[in-house]
Amino acid sequence: MSEKYDVVVIGSGIVGASTAYNLAKRGVSTLVLERFGPNHTNGSSHGKSRIIRSANPENIAYTRLAKSAFDRWGELEAESGSPLMIKTGGLIFGDRKDRFISPFLSDAMKSELDYEIMSPSNAMALFPQFTIGSDEVAVYDPSAGILFPERCVDSYSSLARGFGAEFHFNEEVLRWDAASDCVAIETQSASYKAGRVVLAAGAWNAKLISDVDLGLRCERQVVFWFKPNDDSGSFMPGSMPVFICCDYGRHFYGFPDLGDGVKAAQHHGGEAADPDSVRRAVGKDDEGNVRAFLGRRIPAADGTVTGSSTCLYTNTPTGDFIIDFHPKHSNVLMVSACCGMGFKFASITGEIAADLAMAGKTEHDISLFGLR
Ligand SMILES: Cc1cc2nc3c(=O)[nH]c(=O)nc-3n(C[C@H](O)[C@H](O)[C@H](O)COP(=O)(O)OP(=O)(O)OC[C@H]3O[C@@H](n4cnc5c(N)ncnc54)[C@H](O)[C@@H]3O)c2cc1C
Repeated sequence: MSEKYDVVVIGSGIVGASTAYNLAKRGVSTLVLERFGPNHTNGSSHGKSRIIRSANPENIAYTRLAKSAFDRWGELEAESGSPLMIKTGGLIFGDRKDRFISPFLSDAMKSELDYEIMSPSNAMALFPQFTIGSDEVAVYDPSAGILFPERCVDSYSSLARGFGAEFHFNEEVLRWDAASDCVAIETQSASYKAGRVVLAAGAWNAKLISDVDLGLRCERQVVFWFKPNDDSGSFMPGSMPVFICCDYGRHFYGFPDLGDGVKAAQHHGGEAADPDSVRRAVGKDDEGNVRAFLGRRIPAADGTVTGSSTCLYTNTPTGDFIIDFHPKHSNVLMVSACCGMGFKFASITGEIAADLAMAGKTEHDISLFGLR
């Protein structure tokens, strides 16, 4: 006999955890099924830090969504009593024609947000850690900062549990089968029934949604921590902002030293991967790329590597999230909200997923996220 829930959420990364919290808080009976253990490092929601920023040059719609996302993270922080983020400011610098920078020079973005456009010399006077070319430009977003991903996942999960949600770890969903009135879910050890299912399986969504080609591509990413060659404190939060550098057609990003060193990585540019067989080991080729970037742009941070981690991006064909119902099943909601930028929005994407699962609609603007 299968147990029956209002909603089964597949995946307990940040999207699944946020969705479960939003459902359970509304009194919805919720089961979360997760194939690995709590705080595992096989998916996309680990790695000690994530950038949060109001300024989202990817599309003005994300900039608008970010305002609500900031509010919800603040609410989660208050409700959980756990410190989840710090404000450091954010510096985006490099080629003024780059897709990450040119939107800031437009009137549309200026009317939405407070940020400062800086000449290279002014930016380097304020933040001498960085090397910015004389023909480049810098944008300073004072609202930007750092989210602590593991704490965010834990906070959503434990609050969801407090509202009655069940979490089953180390229980992989093998298949689901939707009929008009319910969805049957089979794992390696049990079977369940649910009124609705939310597929929040990150890079594994493509495997769970095998009858629709969403064009999801999993991309291997490697991040590094470097011990700075400078003990003056200039790489600590308070002195150094989070940053995105538009570096001759490529994008690198990073964080001040939170105790493990300066974290830096290339955004995209990783190899295509299968999440079940991705190369987890980190090689000298991975490090060389990021080290060369540091040498050019943040030379005093180019010290010993103190740590590294492999992580997965799930990219969609348009670069926008997919949050929509399965084309054949109105009780199966697909949530693929990564594209290398999804963490900061998860406080809202979980709310949107809960709205759609229970009411079929949401007050948030989700026009970018539908299947096209
Ligand atoms: C290196 C890196 C840096 C990033 N930096 C930023 C940043 O600075 N700012 C930002 O906003 N975003 C950033 N992102 C993106 C952000 O981290 C992701 O958008 C987000 O973590 C995606 O969460 P998720 O819950 O969709 O996926 P995941 O965290 O991968 O969760 C999916 C879960 O589903 C589980 N699962 C899969 N298949 C099954 C199954 N069959 N049965 C049961 N469970 C299953 C998996 O085990 C996993 O736990 C970054 C991502 C990476 C990889």
